[in-house]
Amino acid sequence: MKTYFDDRQLGHKPKVYYRGGAPTPHPEQPERAILLRDMLLENGFPVVAPQDFGVAPIKAVHDPDYVDFFSDAYARFLAEAPEGAMGIPTRHPGNRRGRCPKDINGAMGWWMTDTSTPLTENTYEAIYWSAQTALAAAEDVVNGARATYGLSRPPGHHAMKTCSNGFCFFNNAAIAAHHLRGKWGKVALLDVDVHTGNGSLDIFYDRNDVFFCSLHPDPAVYPTFYLGYADETGEGDGLGFTRNEVLSMGDGEAEVLAALDRGITAIGDFGADALVVSLGFDMAADDPLAAVNVYADGFAEMARRIAAMGLPTVLIQEGGYLGPSLRNNAEAFLTTFRDNI
Ligand SMILES: [Zn+2]
Repeated sequence: MKTYFDDRQLGHKPKVYYRGGAPTPHPEQPERAILLRDMLLENGFPVVAPQDFGVAPIKAVHDPDYVDFFSDAYARFLAEAPEGAMGIPTRHPGNRRGRCPKDINGAMGWWMTDTSTPLTENTYEAIYWSAQTALAAAEDVVNGARATYGLSRPPGHHAMKTCSNGFCFFNNAAIAAHHLRGKWGKVALLDVDVHTGNGSLDIFYDRNDVFFCSLHPDPAVYPTFYLGYADETGEGDGLGFTRNEVLSMGDGEAEVLAALDRGITAIGDFGADALVVSLGFDMAADDPLAAVNVYADGFAEMARRIAAMGLPTVLIQEGGYLGPSLRNNAEAFLTTFRDNI
């Protein structure tokens, strides 16, 4: 199983964000990706640099103006920023009626909805290559590979059509899923990161060609909030093509695996031809953002069940933060997946 990674993804270096009103060290650090890359190499996975697919596949799922905004946003911000300023928005448009202003601080609030996606010097290069990493993994499956893994970083599944949030800028998994649609009629996107794939939900909510299923705790009490309730099942042509498997805080492996089985059954009923997995490891019991309790054996069992679906599969890295078990959990999932395809 080929894996994809690009060093330029390491250039995004967020320092702090605001959590509960407090400046908090940002958990989405480049070291996460380095740790995962080294694990791949130690386990004999080929680690391949992605080719460049350009911005068109990114703009296929995001507002083109949103994509273009990031290309020079940090330089524009820096030109006007006071000493010591961080590239975070401090003003927002509320219900998003209105127009994106020319002013950089106004534009940041238009396109960025929280403080967790700060602009740093190489943010655009990092998010661009994170998306290209996902595209290269998808392209390999389009060309006949049974499965691939894209080590995308920063993660993507919270990024909506028109706004960043939750550490995510470009929705790598959604970009990969849309890319697979160039070959297959029906694609499923299964999100097993502990957080709701609110961005993927937003992007595919009115589409019936990409079935989206996410496992996550109740959005009433756990971030990223706002979206991911069980009664959100799509709209218009997409009605019935979104599924939210809502967990409880503190759930163990039995509950998580049961929810996964229901998602797998629904994807089977949909008749998916190919699969993208938003693969987070923050369901780990000791993850810094933990909400449920999955251990290495549980991750391996998830891999076994997803591999048994028998679909051409693109695994895209999402969350999973620097905790004691991150490396082992990723190794358990990916080596088990490789052994079962
Ligand atoms: Zn997450």
